[in-house]
Amino acid sequence: MRIWLDGGLRDLDSARVSVFDHGLTVGDGIFETVKAVDGTPFALTRHLDRLTRSARGLGLPEPDHDEVRRACAAVLEANPMPLGRLRITYTGGHGPLGSDRGEHGPTLVVALGSTTRRPDSTAVITVPWTRNERGALTGLKTTSYAENVVALARAHQHGASEALFGNTVGQLCEGTGSNVFVVLDGEIHTPPVTSGCLPGITRALVVEWTGAKETDLPLDVLRRADEVFLTSTLRDVQAVHRIDDREPAGTPGPVTAKAMRIFDERAGQDLDP
Ligand code: PLP
Repeated sequence: MRIWLDGGLRDLDSARVSVFDHGLTVGDGIFETVKAVDGTPFALTRHLDRLTRSARGLGLPEPDHDEVRRACAAVLEANPMPLGRLRITYTGGHGPLGSDRGEHGPTLVVALGSTTRRPDSTAVITVPWTRNERGALTGLKTTSYAENVVALARAHQHGASEALFGNTVGQLCEGTGSNVFVVLDGEIHTPPVTSGCLPGITRALVVEWTGAKETDLPLDVLRRADEVFLTSTLRDVQAVHRIDDREPAGTPGPVTAKAMRIFDERAGQDLDP
């Protein structure tokens, strides 16, 4: 495995970052996960734009898009695979043992793992922990993911692949690594970004391509929705066949099945929508 670290390709075994890198010590970093189909990244422009928004939100220097594009291309060329997940990580870099940033500037790492197409449907649980819709990091894709790690582990204990959060005012928000959509009376709805969810790239494409509405939804909408589905870079559009103990009939329902079809068609036509 060859990865990109600070300006060039390196063998994974010899790539080194400081043990005082702030991505490690205080979670001061941002990232993107980009799907790569036959060596071509999907929606890379949108991912780079979100990386820049996350950098601005954290007060990190803005990443150089040309460099990140070069890094992605080099890593993809060095590690051919049919379906890959590119991981772009950009941290505060080497710093003091506290929360103040050092002088060394950011660390950029681009790595690639292979992945497989996710099943068409999955089980989810809800968790009692809340997303903060008004935090300093709300809506940014930071490397501070420990809460997601804990929630995802609980999902796995319950035979589910995702855990869904509400926010502090009891509205439906998102999953640990996905956005959530519900179908009510034939219409598709998803929580607005003011709910505290990450502005997912797949979410935005599904809203654009299906006309889904952004609606404040109470968390218990999951108990009455006709259909529920998830979106993310690695799941695309994925139907939900179990929410806690509830199993909506006939998953994927007709509206979800149509959204899946539309997404596959449009994404297949344009790799940088
Ligand atoms: N919400 C969270 C917390 C995520 O981490 C992710 C993706 O990793 C998403 C939503 C889905 O976003 P995207 O469609 O850009 O992958």
